[in-house]
Amino acid sequence: RAKQEGRGRLRFYEARMGVQVRERRQIEHDLRHAVERGELRVVYQPQTRIDSGEAVGFEALLRWHHPERGTVPPNLFIPIAEETGSILAIGEWVLRETCREAASWDKPLRIAVNVSAVQLHAPGFAELVHEILFATGLSPARLELEITETALIRDLPRALTTLRRIKALGVRIAMDDFGTGYSSLSNLRAFPFDKIKIDASFTRSVDSSEQAATIVRTVLGLGRGLGLPVLAEGVETSAELAFLGAEACQEAQGYLIGRPGPIGGFQHLTAEPDAAEDAA
Ligand code: C2E
Ligand code: MG
Ligand code: MG
Ligand code: MG
Repeated sequence: RAKQEGRGRLRFYEARMGVQVRERRQIEHDLRHAVERGELRVVYQPQTRIDSGEAVGFEALLRWHHPERGTVPPNLFIPIAEETGSILAIGEWVLRETCREAASWDKPLRIAVNVSAVQLHAPGFAELVHEILFATGLSPARLELEITETALIRDLPRALTTLRRIKALGVRIAMDDFGTGYSSLSNLRAFPFDKIKIDASFTRSVDSSEQAATIVRTVLGLGRGLGLPVLAEGVETSAELAFLGAEACQEAQGYLIGRPGPIGGFQHLTAEPDAAEDAA
């Protein structure tokens, strides 16, 4: 009897797995067509200098508006797109879309674009970046590519060669989610980074946890020592911002400063004051 019950449970489990596998295949399939069906959108989140409060640029964040599922969060679909290779077409679309958008702004603000490990290691990625800059007319100095530590370790020499080529174009490179990855500090020194982004998990706890505050101070010291500016991600409260300012963190990004949204909502940041008045 116990055996029978066990078998029944197993069958139930298999059936549920079947649903998950089918659902996953469906997402994979839908993702392959998301670009051509126009289901992808980019939202923009401002990044500001802490001392002056002025906007220095935006991070581009991808959104997928699925016709039946609604908005699918990137943490769910990007890993699937990476496994199936769809990320190559999707990533190229994001890069082209954001460079074209940024090229149209009055102010020469920066645009930061997330790059997946799969894109970074794909042949011809540096050439693709070059081609997109040429086609959109965006000044290379205004583009910043965000790379995580984990994206580097797949093939360090290859990642280094690609990043050097991209740097040679005049494009900036930021280390994203610093402190959460699986790599060594020597990568910070060996790789041509222009900025460190402290992960939100540390920022979020600076005013409640002495440990988080110590980690943030240490990363800021590291940045100073290496001559790299530091941006704190996920700033949600004015207490966090005050702590970061007091510790001489250069830049901040987070809900306190602005939530990611359509670029139209940030016209006051991208347009010259006169142009904005004319448009109004
Ligand atoms: P990320 O690059 O570290 O982006 C920051 C994430 O933190 C974004 O989540 C943003 O919406 C969120 N965030 C910003 N400020 C706050 C805050 O104050 N509080 C909290 N709780 N969250 C905040 P999002 O948009 O869901 O993106 C998640 C991740 O998906 C990104 O993490 C990035 O790794 C990936 N991603 C997003 N767009 C792209 C893309 O175009 N290409 C690739 N390869 N990855 C992307
Ligand atoms: Mg990022
Ligand atoms: Mg991040
Ligand atoms: Mg992240």
